[in-house]
Amino acid sequence: MQKKEIRGERAAPGWEEEMYYKQYGNTGLKVSAIGLGTMRYDEEDIKAGRLEKCAEIPLYAFEKGINYWDTAPNYCHDKSEIVTGIALSQVKRSDVYVTSKTNLGTLDVGDHPTKEDFRRRLELSLERLKTDYIDFYHMWCMLSLESWEKHMDALYGFFEEAKKDGLIRNIVFSSHMQGNEIEKVVDSGKFKGMLIGYNALNYRFRQSGIEAAYNKGMGVVVMNPLGGGMIPANPDAFRYLTEGTDLTVPQAALRFVASHKEITVTLAGCTTKKHIDDAVKAVEHLEEKPAKEIAKEYEGKGVALNDLCTGCAYCKGCPKEIPIPQYMDAYNQKILTGNDKAILARLDNHWDIPKEKAAECIACGKCEGQCTQHLPIIERLKEIAGM
Ligand code: SF4
Ligand code: SF4
Repeated sequence: MQKKEIRGERAAPGWEEEMYYKQYGNTGLKVSAIGLGTMRYDEEDIKAGRLEKCAEIPLYAFEKGINYWDTAPNYCHDKSEIVTGIALSQVKRSDVYVTSKTNLGTLDVGDHPTKEDFRRRLELSLERLKTDYIDFYHMWCMLSLESWEKHMDALYGFFEEAKKDGLIRNIVFSSHMQGNEIEKVVDSGKFKGMLIGYNALNYRFRQSGIEAAYNKGMGVVVMNPLGGGMIPANPDAFRYLTEGTDLTVPQAALRFVASHKEITVTLAGCTTKKHIDDAVKAVEHLEEKPAKEIAKEYEGKGVALNDLCTGCAYCKGCPKEIPIPQYMDAYNQKILTGNDKAILARLDNHWDIPKEKAAECIACGKCEGQCTQHLPIIERLKEIAGM
């Protein structure tokens, strides 16, 4: 592939016409409102080793002004960092902000890794990305406050040292925490930004977290803007997002997220150039508004997806310590795909929770009394336990 023109030197004005940019918290960095999620490079190309071809996706995203590329170990059969590195080596390094991630699970050496264990992983990411620094390095996938505290004890010092040594520029975290737990991590003041799931389905329950981060001067990057496929799978329920626009439902869902003033980057996982064009169109002439204003605007709009768990976490506090929101999130997958097996796949691949824990439910009814969606939690847990 021909070496790309260097945007920062040559074509920045045209770039800005195509893309909307935001300040990343108090870092002084200007990032594109759409970021490239690199977990969806073409499966067949990845398997066939056509990595140069896959690298055309980030390069095309770059042409369209997307300067935030989010990658991680393990994505795309562990090839995502390599593909992203092929592209990164073809642009001026300072024109792109690249991320990667690590956690205890990625290091795979137990709960007390050494500095060398941490560095080995980081250096592998740097080598694959063909760079000598990573702009945003995530303490990856904090599922709960307990897990976050464990990671802080085991890894945060290594993050700080790597930053001092210039190998990473900003320490950030990514989280699937529910409810107000994120606010506690934000309050710690230890992170420049965070990556969380936020979308038109769960926004009511996630707003306080993004507001807290924004008020603290942190950048907020959003993954899962399409609700894990729930939004495109239920277009009629989300048609209201397209009102007054010529956008498709998925595009409108991206725009919905990106229009929050508290949200810096909305990640779009792209396999094709068309996916990139679609995502870029979603933020054309974007107007930012405070989360509270957006909530007011959409109040009462849309068809409630009554059977789905929204992840609000009001049901927490089970006497048997059953992680109910996670189990109900896994159950969502069955409703959306019509496939029972999707529940176990979600529990295993995403949450790393055994189905057996669901059998510990004593049917006290506490959670059902608190559930904002009035879900039959006890029945669903029983079904999961019996799978
Ligand atoms: S009904 Fe079951 S899951 Fe719900 S709070 Fe009681 S023990 Fe926990
Ligand atoms: S089960 Fe109900 S209360 Fe619990 S997270 Fe889901 S929707 Fe919220």
